[in-house]
Amino acid sequence: MFASLSDRLTATFRSLRGKGRLSPEDVDATVREIRRALLDADVALPVVRQFTAAVRERALGEEVSGALNPAQQVVKIVNEELIGILGGETRRLRLAKNPPTVIMLAGLQGAGKTTLAGKLGRHLKNLDHRPLLVACDLQRPNAVNQLQITGERAGVAVYAPEPGNGVGDPVAVARAGVEHARSQGYDVVVIDTAGRLGVDAEMMRQAADIRAATDPDEVLFVLDAMIGQDAVQTAEAFRDGVGFTGVVLSKLDGDARGGAALSVRSVTGQPVMFASTGEKLDDFELFHPDRMASRILDMGDVLTLIEQAERAFDADQAQQMAAKFANDEDFTLEDFLQQIAAVRNMGSIKKMLGMLPGMQQVREQLDAFDEREFDRIEAMVRSMTPLERRQPRIINGSRRARIAAGCGQSVSAVNDMLERFGQAQKMMRQMRKGLAGGMPGIPGM
Ligand code: GDP
Repeated sequence: MFASLSDRLTATFRSLRGKGRLSPEDVDATVREIRRALLDADVALPVVRQFTAAVRERALGEEVSGALNPAQQVVKIVNEELIGILGGETRRLRLAKNPPTVIMLAGLQGAGKTTLAGKLGRHLKNLDHRPLLVACDLQRPNAVNQLQITGERAGVAVYAPEPGNGVGDPVAVARAGVEHARSQGYDVVVIDTAGRLGVDAEMMRQAADIRAATDPDEVLFVLDAMIGQDAVQTAEAFRDGVGFTGVVLSKLDGDARGGAALSVRSVTGQPVMFASTGEKLDDFELFHPDRMASRILDMGDVLTLIEQAERAFDADQAQQMAAKFANDEDFTLEDFLQQIAAVRNMGSIKKMLGMLPGMQQVREQLDAFDEREFDRIEAMVRSMTPLERRQPRIINGSRRARIAAGCGQSVSAVNDMLERFGQAQKMMRQMRKGLAGGMPGIPGM
């Protein structure tokens, strides 16, 4: 699921890495790639348009974050927009104030309704409810029996019409099922309904009649994620013919390209609430837009890293730094120390880089880098006087010896550090002209 879309998006982001700032051409090229990737994943055209327009506008303008580089910023924007089209918040079941809560399932034949009834029953039971499954799919031979077997497996009661009476009236069965629940103390009723292979008027009418007769608290439209481009049309037909309050995506374990998942919310206005990810009872989960977006972006924990960077980034400090540059002041050892502290805020460097995709090589280099180096540098700077930190030029031989003694390190280690600092300072001077925001890195390290 989403594999190809993930690959395409990740490749797009990768091509932005290392860029200091994004030109309008970069943004256009990126948005074009995202657009193609979404279309190839069968995302509905209006959704693609809306999505890419939003990404484009945000990438071009408004938010220039101090904490993130352009590539990270684009990832962040795409992630947020994905969460948006997936519905934002996780939408949970609405339970009736006066039980029983009635949940009706609707969808095409083979979409996974009966399977879902069992999963939902089990899920509700785990939440200490007393669910009852009601078999109203009287169309498909064996559907009643299948629900009974599923219910048994899930340890959930099933209400079914008497055998031999199987061609009865599904509306009457639904009504009787809800009555049965009320009288027997079941607090949630899940009504399984009939589907057809294609959308047809008779099936819609039947589902609409069941809805009218039982006044459900939730009508869940079960959508097979594998049906690709037909998903949108089917969803629209059910929206208009029966109406629903939420969507369940089934067969998300398959190799569907993701179009249904990404389109259905925008097209129908109703949120995806659950995901069915296999044939077994446990292959079922609440649908969390944020988690689904990170799954699609397949960015490891890069999003966590971005959040951390934003948190660690001290806006005041950045402003001070910018002001310094504007005033043509020099980069001092105090700034150096501040930068080290900022990086430390983000947790261990190695762990941080471990979260970035495609950073294998850097990670290997880092394995060779001793993180205690930071401790040593910090100790040296701390054993300097404030004046020395601000004006490193004055650190002569005798001062070096004193500093080395003060932090328990060799004079050559102090020399080494000052040399590195000198390089950093030079780099900062060069950067001063081209400073375009962005988190100050740790030059020379
Ligand atoms: P219904 O006609 O809507 O009631 O659909 P069923 O519940 O009978 O499911 C149709 C077929 O899809 C059955 O073979 C199920 O085992 C299978 N199925 C249902 N949900 C999933 C799922 O999430 N993943 C996979 N791989 N198969 C599923």
